[in-house]
Amino acid sequence: MNSVRVPVVEKILNANDQIAGQNRLLLDRAGVFALNLMASPGAGKTSLILKTIEGLSPLFRLGVIEGDTAPVTIDADKVAAAGMPAVQINTGGECHLDAVMVGKALESLSLPDLDLLIIENVGNLICPAAFKLGAHANVLIASIPEGDDKPYKYPNIYRGIEALILNKIDLKPYIHFDQDYFLRGVEMLNPGLKFFPLSCTTGDGLPAWLAWVSEKVHNVKS
Ligand code: MG
Ligand code: ZN
Repeated sequence: MNSVRVPVVEKILNANDQIAGQNRLLLDRAGVFALNLMASPGAGKTSLILKTIEGLSPLFRLGVIEGDTAPVTIDADKVAAAGMPAVQINTGGECHLDAVMVGKALESLSLPDLDLLIIENVGNLICPAAFKLGAHANVLIASIPEGDDKPYKYPNIYRGIEALILNKIDLKPYIHFDQDYFLRGVEMLNPGLKFFPLSCTTGDGLPAWLAWVSEKVHNVKS
């Protein structure tokens, strides 16, 4: 069966990549830097988005696309409450976003009025890694409670990212997490990867993350 199924999967991914390319073109034309934020459920995607809005909304015009598997608007409501344009994608049970979904969401945003677009992917460490969305950077949030073995268990998602956040570092005194072991796994898969250990609760480490995003937004503009 595999010999039949693999080409079909490849076709789907090729079609997705083409549409991702169109999304990128739209973003570039409008001068918008887009981030695809991936993580397992509960790692702190929405918390990081809210902190990024807090830190960068004085400097840039932000928008957010929220991917959720169910038609609940909890995360989108939080973002909207922070005063940002937010579009919710309900994937209808699908466990990842794809380029078509993001393309539709882009239509309902006024791109020329944005500098930075954050796309919150569905909480999942497996298939989001396979689907390009057209974003300029893929970012993964890992967190202390998830454990230090995730790079070894989910190598594909670690290979395809431009930056890695390690969230909830304030929990280190309470949870065993061997950061050296974790980073050895990361380095093996993605040498020299940008790494931001931080806490959305205490704010530790956030300035380095915000500075990195700011630089990226400026690069797309120039
Ligand atoms: Mg969320
Ligand atoms: Zn999926």
